[in-house]
Amino acid sequence: MDATAQEFFRQLVETPSPSGYEQKIQRIVRDYARSFADEIRTDVHGNVIATVNAGGSCRVLLDGHVDQIGMIVQHIDDQGFIYCLPIGGWDVQILLGQRVVVWSAEGPLPGVIARKATHLLTDDERKKIPEFHELWIDLGIQDAVEVRRRVQIADPVTVELGLRPIAGSIVSGPKMDDSAGLFVVFEALRRLKGKKFAPAVHVVSAVQEEIGLRGAQTAAFGIDPHLAIAVDVTHATDCPTIDKRSNAVVGIGKGPVLFRGPNINPVMFRRLQETAQQHSLPIQIKGANRGTSNDANVLQLIRSGVATACLGIPLRYMHSPVELISLDDLESAAELLAQFILSLQSGDDFTPV
Ligand SMILES: [Zn+2]
Repeated sequence: MDATAQEFFRQLVETPSPSGYEQKIQRIVRDYARSFADEIRTDVHGNVIATVNAGGSCRVLLDGHVDQIGMIVQHIDDQGFIYCLPIGGWDVQILLGQRVVVWSAEGPLPGVIARKATHLLTDDERKKIPEFHELWIDLGIQDAVEVRRRVQIADPVTVELGLRPIAGSIVSGPKMDDSAGLFVVFEALRRLKGKKFAPAVHVVSAVQEEIGLRGAQTAAFGIDPHLAIAVDVTHATDCPTIDKRSNAVVGIGKGPVLFRGPNINPVMFRRLQETAQQHSLPIQIKGANRGTSNDANVLQLIRSGVATACLGIPLRYMHSPVELISLDDLESAAELLAQFILSLQSGDDFTPV
């Protein structure tokens, strides 16, 4: 990964973007894409769409979602403690003991989520997982009036953001989902700069995936693609307690996962698999027995149907502040997408027969 790409990935990971609050990060995405896209636009839903070769033989949509899970302020009590609603799927046990940030209009406010000390918990309390609505954020501000002056109802909240290199190309942080996939689709487009290829390519930085695959739907309706590839993270199974019988063998650093099953166009699957083989790019294969839980699900169903594929970046500990991925998988995935685009010819038919 060169310095430009590294810096873009760092910005994606360090900029807050809970679903519905993606404007700031979308400005970063737009600025980045300016050096290699022919056109960049933001649609009314907030998706950023970077296009190259607009008049091409067919339209290809590459999707990564820009939003992250987070929280939204719903109540400030008379002591100034803040109660939130979740944005996306949280494991409450993991939120206990986290550093968080309230992204207020006047700037980031650091806070913590915890509960009373273990010494003070009753035996019953110790065994019980709190409900989400029982969690509070403590900003350390002792005055409810002051908290209410600085924090507005519905301000977004995230856990403390950051990128932590661990070992070799392994990095950890709370925003790998889906900074990883978003990075990959833009890196694929960057690698195509100056090259000649047949299709029009529309790279979408899609909003609101975590609350129901919402941005991909509106973006795809507008683009009306023939082919679509969603790039998201997927569960690596190379750590304790994950059942490989239902989740397949998926390792971090072993290449992106190519999904196969009813959500995936079989010709797309085969062409991507062949592209990987031809260019000696590592891939792993995983079955998806129904609509996937990411943007590929809705992309397939736009208008009269879209030939859809899904690439998964292997990740351990999804939806936690310590999501763990290998940067090598981002490189392999971006190269696979770029080579796939280069392999497309006008007249290619993706009808399954
Ligand atoms: Zn995701």
